[in-house]
Amino acid sequence: MIPKSHPRYESLLLRDKMVKAAQKGYLADSALIAHGRGEAFDYLIGEKTTYPAKRAMYVAVAALLLSNNPVISVNGNATALAIDEIIELADAVNAKIEINLFYRTDERVKIITNLYKDHGYKNILGTLDDEIKYINDIKNSRATASKTGIYTADTVLIPLEDGDRAEILKKGGKNIITIDLNPLSRTSKMSDVSIADNIVRAIPFMTKIAEDLKTQDKAVLFELVNEFDNEENLKESLEQIKVKE
Ligand code: ATP
Repeated sequence: MIPKSHPRYESLLLRDKMVKAAQKGYLADSALIAHGRGEAFDYLIGEKTTYPAKRAMYVAVAALLLSNNPVISVNGNATALAIDEIIELADAVNAKIEINLFYRTDERVKIITNLYKDHGYKNILGTLDDEIKYINDIKNSRATASKTGIYTADTVLIPLEDGDRAEILKKGGKNIITIDLNPLSRTSKMSDVSIADNIVRAIPFMTKIAEDLKTQDKAVLFELVNEFDNEENLKESLEQIKVKE
């Protein structure tokens, strides 16, 4: 039991979720290392949502609301940290959810599929029964996508994705949104909209934004998307990393 007064309380709670997910068998070995990389960046931004991250979230939600077939791609880490929040965001922006694992095994896919079902989300894509296609016909495990999901999606939200897959999605003509605490990652640099924030803060915030933006004219949403400069925003995100004593 972690005392609430502990200075790293939130961070330790997340670690605990990751450890439990690893014990349940749906994380790859490297998942905890990826989490640690995220933790380090979160520490450096003071474990709070920065202004450039908020700006990127408004743009991301506008892009999702303007899309015909938006999909949220989930892996083990995203599921362990924010399963309910992901389901709520999918409902709010009318997006599908698709499982995509870097080290895909039937066992992990099965566990994650059942987790979404147990949490009330029935139509999860990327399952063992789903029709899986290869983006741009690239016969590589990084290029797989559900036929009715990412394969035909116009916009894909890829929290905590690796650079190789992000590149394949980009070359496949997708509009890419990432949530990645590291503004220097290949995924952040390659995406159309990069949110340098912790997924546990970003996803629920995006759901709130969706409730607001849904009531706006489409012209307002287009303006948000068109005026956004991801490279500039990433520079600002990087400037948020300050080493204080
Ligand atoms: P790339 O291949 O894009 O350069 P990478 O090699 O760092 O990135 P991974 O090892 O797959 O890719 O790491 C996943 C990324 O997810 C890391 O950049 C890490 O900062 C980020 N990350 C980890 N945990 C979180 C979290 N809770 N919220 C947001 N981002 C996170």
